[in-house]
Amino acid sequence: MSHSLLQPVQYLNGIGPKRSKIIGRLGIQTVHDLLYYFPRDYNDFSKIQKIAEAKTGDSITIQGTINGIQNRVARMGKTILEVFVSDETGVIAATWFNQPFLVNKFRIGDRLFLHGKVNSYKYLQLLSPEYEIISDRQAGGSGWGIIPVYPLTEHISQSQLRKIIHAAIQEYVDLLEDALPLPLIKKYNFLPVADAIRHIHSPPSMELLNRAKNRLVYEELFCLEMAMALRRYRIKGETRIPFKAGANVDAHIRNIIPFTLTKAQERVIYEIREDMKSDKPMNRLLQGDVGSGKTVVALYAALIAVANGYQATFMAPTELLAQQHFRTLQKFLSGSQVRVCLLTGSGNATHKKNVIAQVSDGGIDLIVGTHAIIEESVSFKKLGLVVIDEQHKFGVLQRLKLRKKGASPDVLIMTATPIPRTLSLTLFGDMDISMLDEMPPGRIPVKTFWVSKNKEKAAYDFIRGEISKGKQVFVVYPLVEHSEKLDLKSAITEAERLRNEIFPECKVGLLHGKMKSAEKEQAMADFKERRYDILVSTIIIEVGIDVPNATIMVIEHAERFGLAQLHQLRGRIGRGGKQSYCLLFGTPKTALSRDRLRTMVNTSDGFKIAEMDFRLRGPGEFFGTRQHGLPELKISNIFHDFSLLQKARKDAFEIVCRDPSLSAEEHQKIKTKVVEMFKDRLDYLL
Ligand code: ADP
Ligand code: MG
Repeated sequence: MSHSLLQPVQYLNGIGPKRSKIIGRLGIQTVHDLLYYFPRDYNDFSKIQKIAEAKTGDSITIQGTINGIQNRVARMGKTILEVFVSDETGVIAATWFNQPFLVNKFRIGDRLFLHGKVNSYKYLQLLSPEYEIISDRQAGGSGWGIIPVYPLTEHISQSQLRKIIHAAIQEYVDLLEDALPLPLIKKYNFLPVADAIRHIHSPPSMELLNRAKNRLVYEELFCLEMAMALRRYRIKGETRIPFKAGANVDAHIRNIIPFTLTKAQERVIYEIREDMKSDKPMNRLLQGDVGSGKTVVALYAALIAVANGYQATFMAPTELLAQQHFRTLQKFLSGSQVRVCLLTGSGNATHKKNVIAQVSDGGIDLIVGTHAIIEESVSFKKLGLVVIDEQHKFGVLQRLKLRKKGASPDVLIMTATPIPRTLSLTLFGDMDISMLDEMPPGRIPVKTFWVSKNKEKAAYDFIRGEISKGKQVFVVYPLVEHSEKLDLKSAITEAERLRNEIFPECKVGLLHGKMKSAEKEQAMADFKERRYDILVSTIIIEVGIDVPNATIMVIEHAERFGLAQLHQLRGRIGRGGKQSYCLLFGTPKTALSRDRLRTMVNTSDGFKIAEMDFRLRGPGEFFGTRQHGLPELKISNIFHDFSLLQKARKDAFEIVCRDPSLSAEEHQKIKTKVVEMFKDRLDYLL
């Protein structure tokens, strides 16, 4: 990239150290950043109407000259600023309440645009219209007609930022070079990048604005998909010794599975077996709603590795989950010779040391644990498979670190968060995807009810009845300690209330994130062994805790949880073949949050719920995109621009397939751009 594009904005005309600091808050450091700082919206001032055409209730744009300004104090100390504007057909007043300082913006004789809704008072008015003083724009505004609206920060105004960006465009835009390979520019008839940037900031017409947007969105998504393609081909480019997984191995493994696999499990196991039999390492994402039976599928994969003389590791995001996996796997393997161990951050140091020693000399086949497994001190004798449960808690970098512990081990990532297709393409664009879309037989769908304030008592009576039949109850709260600000009931005080007032005859336990891990374990174990009837907990039970006898889940302040999260929580019950109930307590204040609760009541399809959640909250909140090693997208939206994403993906994969290390001359610029976009997150690829 040209050096002058990388210079700090501070050296531009009209920007000193003070202003560059303000602009810095917008994430703008260099001239290049400034050119790529995109408007969030546009005001279309391109169709100018005459004042005489103004009708009450219409939204109009007019152009005129100021011929009167009045700033007065009305009753109750309210200030009213009126600016009278005329064109050759009439006069209209632009009116602002309680913004007396605005008076300094206007001078008699100024020409300006006004855009707003027409109101008729004693005379025609535009109430708090948007305005654009024409002399301003001639001194470096943004063209005529369609005006960009930028996201701002304190101490800088729209017109100041427009001027700065406009000046930068005039001086620097032609230094931008097209990074997209020429054949693609031709294929889609894209605008040259300099024109696209020019038009995105000051569109000569809606049509050119759309073409500019199209090109820039495509380019961003193309870079994203290039990174995915590179990652994928990098992994696929590795070779290793294929595993043997014939009828013999298969029969051995099936021997230890105590039930008939579902069709979906059979299909996914087939996919995994084919991967493991190939000389390319597996890189597969296994999606399946809670309870769909992922564990046994992963176990099958692990046993293929073990049967071939390799080690396998099972990684979970929390100690509690790791322990649970450990116990489950131990049970499956109790009659076999497979040696299993648990490795987490806590626990006895000597024991841990001993385990680590056994892992490195091959005395252990299957290592279950938390991220403690990726610590430097742990080395494997012969790591063949890495299973990661609940992927969304792990970042790409952690995945990578683990991969490096073996010579190209197979990787299987399991997630219960149903990921909309749109998202999985981008987040996991480098992986193959398998889906468990069928529940094991005998599952009775959870019945979900929304309990409003006046039904709470009835709900408590119902719960009491179920407890008297020997059932157990989860009660989930959004926060741990009382926060006055949010006025949420906290798990701690609520546990007291339930214990003393509502269910004095029951045993109530407590589990929350601030407890030591030994205490958590104890509470969980006590609940599992029915020493409590009710377990009050915070969100930490969200993933993977298995207590088949718990058939009721109460979720307090349900409106404060994300839908996907509610669905995950609900998945904790209904595991024992008995009818289970999810009771959503909450008083949603908006129509939207009422809709969300209704969705939960009416739908048990995790994918539908995820899609809705994703639409409502956006991918960032849905997942914490940063954690995934994805760059921030400046102009594209993977939902909105899905069809462009698919094209970009196809193009990117074709290019990387032909030129996996991007060494061809025509790929140098895009390579630089992708590296810049991903920075350290891509170091290992090129
Ligand atoms: P998840 O996908 O949520 O991790 P699990 O693997 O924990 O689901 O499985 C949920 C429960 O269903 C477990 O108790 C498991 O033993 C059981 N299970 C899994 N597959 C089957 C099957 N094919 N038939 C009967 N039960 C099964
Ligand atoms: Mg699980």
